[in-house]
Amino acid sequence: MIETNRTFVNSHESLGLMLIVSLAILLPGSALAKADWGYVGKTGPDYWAEMGGENNACGGQNQSPVDIHGVVQADLAPIELNYTGPGRQVVNNGHTVQVNFDSGSAIRVDGSEFALLQTHFHAPSENHIGGRSFPLEAHFVHADAEGNLAVIGVMFELGAANPNLEELTSKAPMEMASSATLSKGMHAADFVTSGRDYYRFNGSLTTPPCSEGVRWLVLKQAASISSEQLQKLSAAFPHANNRPLQPLNARLVLE
Ligand SMILES: [Zn+2]
Repeated sequence: MIETNRTFVNSHESLGLMLIVSLAILLPGSALAKADWGYVGKTGPDYWAEMGGENNACGGQNQSPVDIHGVVQADLAPIELNYTGPGRQVVNNGHTVQVNFDSGSAIRVDGSEFALLQTHFHAPSENHIGGRSFPLEAHFVHADAEGNLAVIGVMFELGAANPNLEELTSKAPMEMASSATLSKGMHAADFVTSGRDYYRFNGSLTTPPCSEGVRWLVLKQAASISSEQLQKLSAAFPHANNRPLQPLNARLVLE
């Protein structure tokens, strides 16, 4: 866990301290995550809000994931992508498999630039679309200069093997707190497409401390993954790592 945090900080040492602090909370089990948490039993999602401190946010009104429904037509601007180099470092943090990106890749949302930090996976999907769950969801996590987050969700459905996932699924570290280096790397642009085919809503981190104010963009188009690839990737987590659906409450989902 310390190793995870150290390599994260080293690879982003050009970022300001505020940003590093706010992003370290995205690394479950890092030194800044005070309480241990999980997906089952007494440390499971039902108990996250009771862990104290900033984890109170897990009981908030604008939590993620959600079932995307009752969508409102809006004139959403296309997502502007500026993805450069691939992510090469893959970390197993005990909760998920995460690919870390070097600085340089970004998207533009609401007139601000959000740098791409990391991608991680949930199996089965956390968000649902129209009541439908998917076998896998990737979260591409971005942050602006103030530490505000924008997450792009990409669903996967079972089908043909995805050549863009081949290296990751074959080299993903199976042991908690271990890492691996990809030679070809994972290219975000192979999964995230620009354009207007996405849903947008406000939400939160889906892991403690469940901080709200996250801009969520979920792509309508699912990518493909073979059952063999899915099996390899999900074998890296001890069990399903999807937080249960949270109520939309007063939120609108736009498309
Ligand atoms: Zn996630």
